[in-house]
Amino acid sequence: MLAPSKIVCVGRNYVAHAAELGNEVPEEPLIFLKPPSSLIENGRHIEIPVGVGRVDYEGEIGLVMGRRARDVGEAEALAYVESLVAANDVTARDLQRKDDQWSRAKGFDTFCPVGVPEPIAGVDLDGLEVVTRVNDEVRQRGRASDMAFGPAFLVSYISRIMTLEPGDLILTGTPEGIGPLADGDVVEVEITGFARVVNPVRNRPARA
Ligand code: MG
Repeated sequence: MLAPSKIVCVGRNYVAHAAELGNEVPEEPLIFLKPPSSLIENGRHIEIPVGVGRVDYEGEIGLVMGRRARDVGEAEALAYVESLVAANDVTARDLQRKDDQWSRAKGFDTFCPVGVPEPIAGVDLDGLEVVTRVNDEVRQRGRASDMAFGPAFLVSYISRIMTLEPGDLILTGTPEGIGPLADGDVVEVEITGFARVVNPVRNRPARA
C-alpha cells in the first residue's frame, strides 16, 4: 500500500474536460490536495457518503515520487519519479460546485483508489493513454500528450511550491467524459498496457 505524505492533484489539465464543466484551462497548473486517508487499493469499495449528491469518477495517470524533489527543473524532473499508477480522483461533484475550496468534495474516505505502481523507467510518457470504464463500458479516453501541462512540467512546478517526498503521489488530471457512480457499479481506470485499478462502488454503510 502506498503511504504518501501528500497527494497532489491537478485540475483542468485537459482542454476538453475543462470545457465540459464550463471552465478554461488555467494559465498555470491548478493544484489541490487529497488527504492520504482517502486512499484505497485495487478491489476495495468506493463508498458514496450519505447526502452528498452526485459522486463522479475521474480516471487519471498518477506519478509516484522516488526521490525527494525541491526546486527541480523541468529537464531533470522525471528522474525523481519512480513509478506510474492508475488512479481515480473520485469527486463529490455537487459539493465541488458549492465549495470554493475542494477539500470536502475530493477528500472523503475511499475517494482515491490507486493500483499497483509500475516502474516508469524507459516509458514514453507522451504515448500513455488513460481509459475509464464503468461496468465494462468505456467512459473516458485521454492521452498524456493532450495534457495542458505535462508530467515533467508538473513535477517541477509542484516542487517549487512544496518539497515532494519519496512515495508522494501526483494525479495529473482527468480527460473529458466524467460522470456519476452509483451503488453496485464497478469502475476501472487503466493506463493502457501498464497499470490499472478496479473498484466496486457501494453506498457508505451507516455507522454509529
Ligand atoms: Mg481530477
